[in-house]
Amino acid sequence: MTRSVLVVGAGIVGAAVTLALARKGHRVTLLEQGTLGGAVSGASLACLGTHMIDSEELPLLIWSCRAWRQLAEEIGADIEYRRCGQIRFIEREADVAVAERWIAEERAAGLAPTLLTPAALRALEPALTGDVVAATHSPGDAVVNPFLALRAILRAARSLGADVRPHRPARQVEVEAGRVVGVRTDAGPVAADAVVLAAGPWTARLAAGCGVALPIRPRKAQCLATVARPPTIGAVVGACESTGGVEAGYTQIQQARSGQILFNSVLAGGLSEDGAQDRSPEVDPRFVRDSVTTLLRLFPSLGGIELLRSWVRFEAVAPDDRFLIGPAGPAGLFIAAGDAGTGFVRAPAVGHLIAQMLAEDALSFRGELYAPSRFAAAA
Ligand SMILES: Cc1cc2nc3c(=O)[nH]c(=O)nc-3n(C[C@H](O)[C@H](O)[C@H](O)COP(=O)(O)OP(=O)(O)OC[C@H]3O[C@@H](n4cnc5c(N)ncnc54)[C@H](O)[C@@H]3O)c2cc1C
Repeated sequence: MTRSVLVVGAGIVGAAVTLALARKGHRVTLLEQGTLGGAVSGASLACLGTHMIDSEELPLLIWSCRAWRQLAEEIGADIEYRRCGQIRFIEREADVAVAERWIAEERAAGLAPTLLTPAALRALEPALTGDVVAATHSPGDAVVNPFLALRAILRAARSLGADVRPHRPARQVEVEAGRVVGVRTDAGPVAADAVVLAAGPWTARLAAGCGVALPIRPRKAQCLATVARPPTIGAVVGACESTGGVEAGYTQIQQARSGQILFNSVLAGGLSEDGAQDRSPEVDPRFVRDSVTTLLRLFPSLGGIELLRSWVRFEAVAPDDRFLIGPAGPAGLFIAAGDAGTGFVRAPAVGHLIAQMLAEDALSFRGELYAPSRFAAAA
């Protein structure tokens, strides 16, 4: 049965949900309060990986990485998809055992990560001459350009009839007799049989407006970019376990097709107060210092390179670091948010699950891992 569905939020998740629903023949309207991809999605490093994320989610991650590959082939636009592989550097002997555990789990799921000696690492990534004891290599991981990917997905959805409206905030989810009937906007009500909230860290506020409490909090994510360089870094380079970042956070370094080196260290834990996502703060000096130190420790030949820009956005985080995907509260309301910092890779699978849930089909992945009701059950 085809239905009219309203998706709130044109980040990568809302875009993927819109495309998945349009492909099923639903009449989809996508409302975005700002510019398309203007929140965290456009600011992403957009690594599409299965490596060291969450073993219970491997089936979903593997499916999603395959969907990205197909999308890059089918979509008829260059989204800078590149299967560059991912390296996790290891600076402490104690982390080798941790890496071996991840490798065993991923190999059992049919993937092919390996443990590299320092010499093998140098052969693969010659500029990474910093002092590491080992590294892992996940050869299938890829990257895309986040803006190009998001826009290409929305173009594909529009070609199937989706109505995409930027600069159109959803003010309130409207509910009558226990079921959603649409949303209120400044330009009047927009009617729908179902509403999907894919509004990142703003999702909890919208859900609260129709009586649904969700434990989604904003988390500050920061990034730096250097001026363009000739090709220097081939893979996505990250930290294994807890080394390399701001106070035991996480590091990611990669080179864009433009030649700019993009890198960051995510603050461990680091939740922000609700409402932080409405502001545009500057990067923290401590973050800049630690990120630059880590980059130069690993790639000493980049010493003296100039920084070009920095940015801050807010990810949406749930207490167990997993997405909330599924029905919540009044009939017809669905949640697709709580990305925990790796929502780009998961977006196609989130769209797929929402389409299956709307049709009341059997789910391809373990729905209970993502059920918004899991927090109510725990309480
Ligand atoms: C530096 C950095 C590096 C990252 N690297 C990776 C990576 O390598 N791999 C990976 O998988 N992920 C990565 N991420 C995380 C990834 O970018 C996010 O998980 C993902 O983009 C979340 O997408 P989203 O659509 O849920 O959220 P958002 O992009 O925040 O989209 C939500 C949208 O909803 C809109 N909205 C909110 N309220 C309303 C309203 N009332 N009405 C209408 N619209 C509304 C917002 O304006 C926003 O555009 C990274 C993030 C950062 C910042």
